[in-house]
Order: sequence, then structure tokens, then C-alpha cells
Amino acid sequence: MCGIIGYTGKEPAAPILYGALTRLEYRGYDSAGIATIDDNKIHIVKEKGKLGDIAPQCNETTLPGQIGIGHVRWATHGGATRENAHPHCDSEQKIAVVHNGIIANYEELKSQLLSKYTFRSETDTEVIPHLIRYYMDSGLSFEDAFFAMAKELKGSYAILATCVSEP
Ligand code: GLU
Repeated sequence: MCGIIGYTGKEPAAPILYGALTRLEYRGYDSAGIATIDDNKIHIVKEKGKLGDIAPQCNETTLPGQIGIGHVRWATHGGATRENAHPHCDSEQKIAVVHNGIIANYEELKSQLLSKYTFRSETDTEVIPHLIRYYMDSGLSFEDAFFAMAKELKGSYAILATCVSEP
């Protein structure tokens, strides 16, 4: 378990998020990533290894926008790979999620979601964006879908999520 950070404001988000993640480095981690929202799109930079490896991309060109989320990962489910690094997205790449902790019932949730959505990682975390998408597809707002998703989770966790339609 390592750290998550979110930013919304008037400044470019990526350098602020990167700076905040450097302050979490002392906790130990195996991968890092940032997602920002701009122009109705999610922009993601993530990599296994050191935070310094993503530093050159944490600028306004690669990660534009004034809202975003960041993560330093200590893997619990799935190896330390780029695919397993956070943020994780729904199949439409409209929702991005970072998560610390463990979703104890992720296998059960994943087996229910697999017929509808494409999973790209081995993490427990990835059920979160797909569950939010599931509830948004059934008519809920992003915020209501987030809380409906949270009711389904068992385990211990801190989560940040952002969505292009309600950034
Ligand atoms: N269980 C999640 C994973 O393995 C989150 C780990 C963490 O807290 O960094 O990706």
C-alpha cells in the first residue's frame, strides 16, 4: 500500500501531482502514474519503476489539464508491470481511478463484469472503473455511480476517481 493524490484548481495539474507523489516516495513503491482530464479526454502516463522515469512526461503537453489524480503503487494483486500500474480506466477510457489497499471480493466482482467489459490488468483495482461504468450505463450520475460502486466493495481502500463527463 502506498499513496494517492488528487488535484483540481487553476494550475496545470501534472507538475503539482508529480511533486506530491515525490513526497510519498519514502513509503516505498514499485510503479507510479498520473491521469489528467482535458478536452473531454483522459491523458495517462504510468510506468513500473521509479517516479523519475515518468518525470519527463509530467508536463502540460503530455498531461494537459487542471484536474488529475496520481498514484505510487505497492503491488498486492498482479506484478509490478506497466499494465498493472495505476491509474486504471473503464473500457471507454472515460473514467480513471487510483486506489490504495485491497478489494477482497474483486474476483467475484470481476467474474460478473467480464462479460460486459474488457479488463487490461491483473489488479483487484480494475473492477472499480468498470463498476462505476456499469452504474453510469444504468443511468446514474458519476457521483451516484461512485457511491453505488463503493457499496459493493469489501476490503480496505482509499480511492480517487475522475470522469470526463463530470470532471
Ligand atoms: N491492490 C492494488 C494493486 O495491487 C493497490 C496497491 C496499492 O495500494 O498500491 O494494484
